[in-house]
Amino acid sequence: MKYKRILLKLSGESLMGNKQFGIDNNRLSDYATEIKEICDLGIEVAIVIGGGNIFRGVQAEEGGMDRTHGDYMGMLATMINSMALQAALEAKGLETRLQSAIEMKEIAEPYIRRRAVRHLERGRVVIFGAGTGNPYFTTDSAASLRAIEIEADVILKGTRVDGIYTADPEKDPTATKYDEITFEDAYSKGLKVMDMTAFTLCMENDLPIIVFDMDTVGNLKKLISGEKVGTIVRN
Ligand code: UDP
Repeated sequence: MKYKRILLKLSGESLMGNKQFGIDNNRLSDYATEIKEICDLGIEVAIVIGGGNIFRGVQAEEGGMDRTHGDYMGMLATMINSMALQAALEAKGLETRLQSAIEMKEIAEPYIRRRAVRHLERGRVVIFGAGTGNPYFTTDSAASLRAIEIEADVILKGTRVDGIYTADPEKDPTATKYDEITFEDAYSKGLKVMDMTAFTLCMENDLPIIVFDMDTVGNLKKLISGEKVGTIVRN
């Protein structure tokens, strides 16, 4: 296997499937199946999930609500998704732990790095909920931060597109996909990989990011086995 410990980042929106809002149970179950496949190979899996299918801080601002208040609501949204994913993974027979960056001890462990690493070593899937616990950040930043902290080999950013393109493939038919690109080139070409905070964290700490299509069955396993899937961004 190419990687031993990975951090999988899923967006909240990816959980919507064909729905307009919330969580599609079929999609959740499909993701759980994919994740189980790589766990069965002995890969240590940590997951960060977004909350955009339920709430985003910027939405609150548009409605006249204080941004910080909205961001905390967004972090709570990630907990709802994390709990849903936790249940789906357990339904497939995986052992899981949910750790929250905001204390809510009735439903999740607090985030404790050493404990998270121990869970991973014991083969449990660890889900990091509530983002970084701080407003003005995103779950991409949370994913980068946690991945660095637990010394993951790579961040796998599951999206609905199969990698990073020279231009938006939906608008420009001549756009081509990169198999790999350096952080520096991605930055100088203005390509969107993750938000700048997350991107910089990864670049400065030499943590590669692979952007790939999570909705294509088998992709996750292929990636882990070292097959060329998606786009890898590295130094
Ligand atoms: N959020 C935050 N701090 C964090 C992570 C998330 O304030 O460390 C809030 C922010 O309002 C964000 C929302 O939670 O809009 C949902 O997260 P995100 O937008 O990253 O979810 P995704 O786009 O991946 O679904």
